[in-house]
Amino acid sequence: MGTMKAVVKTKPELGAEWLDRPIPEPAASDWVVVKVRATSICGTDVHIYKWDPWSDSRIGGKALPQTLGHEVAGEVVEVGPHCKRIKVGDFVSAETHIYDPGDLTTMLGSPHVGRNMKILGVDFNGCFAEYFTLPESICWPNDPSITPEVACIQEPLGNATYAVLGEDADVAGKSMVITGDGPISLFAIGVARAVGVAKIIHFGKYDFNMEIGKRMGADHQMYTNKTTGAERLEAVLDLTGGNGVDIALEMVGSQDSVDDCFNMVRKAGRVTAFGVAAENRLPIDYNNGIVFKACQIHGINGRKIFDTWYRNRNLLASGRLDPTPVITNVFKLEDYAKGFGAMMERPRKSAKCVLFPDQAEYEAAVRRLGDH
Ligand code: ZN
Repeated sequence: MGTMKAVVKTKPELGAEWLDRPIPEPAASDWVVVKVRATSICGTDVHIYKWDPWSDSRIGGKALPQTLGHEVAGEVVEVGPHCKRIKVGDFVSAETHIYDPGDLTTMLGSPHVGRNMKILGVDFNGCFAEYFTLPESICWPNDPSITPEVACIQEPLGNATYAVLGEDADVAGKSMVITGDGPISLFAIGVARAVGVAKIIHFGKYDFNMEIGKRMGADHQMYTNKTTGAERLEAVLDLTGGNGVDIALEMVGSQDSVDDCFNMVRKAGRVTAFGVAAENRLPIDYNNGIVFKACQIHGINGRKIFDTWYRNRNLLASGRLDPTPVITNVFKLEDYAKGFGAMMERPRKSAKCVLFPDQAEYEAAVRRLGDH
């Protein structure tokens, strides 16, 4: 058994270490080992890197040391004896949620919110390493035409696709407000464009990210830090013949953003709740925003397994969806601290950050991303 490099959380405080670790074997007979080609930094990784109160309660210092990361693309190099679907040599990404097939919610078709859920990089060692092990059940084979840097961001892209499509995928020709300028808001703009949303109205506050939102296909944009809620509402009503939007995606979790979405959605429209609020309780205009509006509310946690993966693979392979404007930073894996620095910087000057264990993969990605 050889050794490899990995980004390991060793102490319950800010930061992580670049350490030698044993190359893993399949953790169970139906697990595989993947050689990581590209891996991206998620907001969850930033929580753990900072070791905020969520990390302390969810993971706890006793679980350390633990390798970070869950967004990944890589090559399968070993399979356990009970693996059936995945083969050595497959180019795969990973659904982060390791679901329990015997749980009722899972059996009824919603494994992404099933009970007894385990999460890659949270409950197990993650993929900020040269190799890592994961269950065959959450491996997703990529189309070979998809680059590693795009293949690894499909996990958050899946959140965006699920948020845009909702449960019925009834979005073509409709109008949509998308709030926020984090990577998933920006991905959602691109998905909305690709699946035929006819009018995409984007709210954000950072110049750098608003520019990406424009490149991803926003038809109209408003700065939330330079306008009032009343001004935004008036603008949206103007753009929708006085009706309000068909669909509002709440992707910030702030009071202003939640108010915008419930105020701007038209009667019998849909509000999708994705942003996580700092407080569990957040006031909403229950009567006018929901009851009298006959509004649908759709909470998003994770992705549809594997519906969003399937759709994204097809959209990416077809070239109709190009998420690369959202990939703003690429680094060698050993330079992970620069990546976390970029993710934590405010005002934002980055969106998605991708890391590469291998020098040649890194250089190839720099060339590809530099070309567009
Ligand atoms: Zn993620």
